[in-house]
Amino acid sequence: MIVVTADALRSLLSETFVACGCEPDEATRVAASLVDANLAGHDSHGVVRTQRYVEWLQAGVHHAGRSVDVVIDGGAFLVLDGQYGLGHTIAPQAVRLGIERAKRHGVSIVALRHSGHLGRVGQWAEMAAADGLVSLHFVNVGSSRLVAPFGGISRRMATNPVCIAVPCGDRPPVVLDFATSIVAEGKALVALNGGAPLPEGSLITGDGRLTADPRALYGAVAPGEMPSGVGGSGALRAMGEHKGSGLSIMCELLAGALTGSGAAGPEVIPFCNGMLSVYLSPEHLTGGEAEQFHREVNDYIDWLKTARPAVGVDEVLAPGEPERRKKAKRLAEGIELPDDTWTSIVAAAASVGVTAPA
Ligand code: NAD
Repeated sequence: MIVVTADALRSLLSETFVACGCEPDEATRVAASLVDANLAGHDSHGVVRTQRYVEWLQAGVHHAGRSVDVVIDGGAFLVLDGQYGLGHTIAPQAVRLGIERAKRHGVSIVALRHSGHLGRVGQWAEMAAADGLVSLHFVNVGSSRLVAPFGGISRRMATNPVCIAVPCGDRPPVVLDFATSIVAEGKALVALNGGAPLPEGSLITGDGRLTADPRALYGAVAPGEMPSGVGGSGALRAMGEHKGSGLSIMCELLAGALTGSGAAGPEVIPFCNGMLSVYLSPEHLTGGEAEQFHREVNDYIDWLKTARPAVGVDEVLAPGEPERRKKAKRLAEGIELPDDTWTSIVAAAASVGVTAPA
């Protein structure tokens, strides 16, 4: 492991993305979002992605400098096309529109298709919560077939995250944000790179045995080679048995089919995220009593946290708390990265002529 400060990582990634053709403000935004994911403890959606983003920009899978195109403007609902722009540029544009419409109408729905990788979805829900809005997000990953459905071995879904955030007035929001697979693909990537091991049974081998070995997904990876999710003969498993598998199927239908982004299928389509987002204004839904709503939410969370902890658990936490705690710790102490992750970042930077600090 090596430890790097958030500032040092932001500056190296930012320089790298500029060298890949991004304008400085876009490069800074993408770098900050990736580092933010690490700060939140979601290393799977953080700087470990640098090499893949560089390759995608170079191969034209994602494009710098793109904006959302409004396909349908229905007032309280919008259909947006992200035009395969970088997700960290496309998402904030889509979220800003969703916020603006929900503040006008009380509710809004934004169907986003063809966005580049949206990273940690919680970042977008936190943006809406900071503006006082509840939001729900269903995401699919076009072209990505990594997860076996309940009772199956073959890959039929992506890791399809679901995120719901509730603002709490002057307290931090409650943010539930998870992949519908037992582990996000990036966590398998982190484990393959020598990071935290995966829970037993989070993958299934090609011959139907439960395993914790990420090679079920990636196959054998030569040193220096970028792991590919199509390399292995197995699959990730959906969380929560038939319930989590069903939630993932709904992400394919809502974020893939309904947005027009495309659900997973036998055809290989370009990588993109689809996201169906619902924004709710407590101010409207409570008839101007949002403060009462915040009190109710905060009272509930306080009571929830008084639940007696189970054996081996120190404390009952609300969704969003682990991320905030991790962020405070990593801002103070730096971000630990497995050697392989750091090596891949340095290599990605070098491939576009950027030298990492010693
Ligand atoms: P995870 O399994 O770590 O679960 C995270 C959620 O559980 C958070 O809401 C967290 O606050 C809550 N949580 C964790 N521990 C808790 C505890 N002890 N008590 C109460 N709540 C607790 O997350 P994951 O499934 O590995 O997903 C990681 C990230 O990957 C997410 O940010 C997700 O958006 C992202 N993702 C993105 C894509 C994409 O295509 N863009 C795909 C999959 C996942």
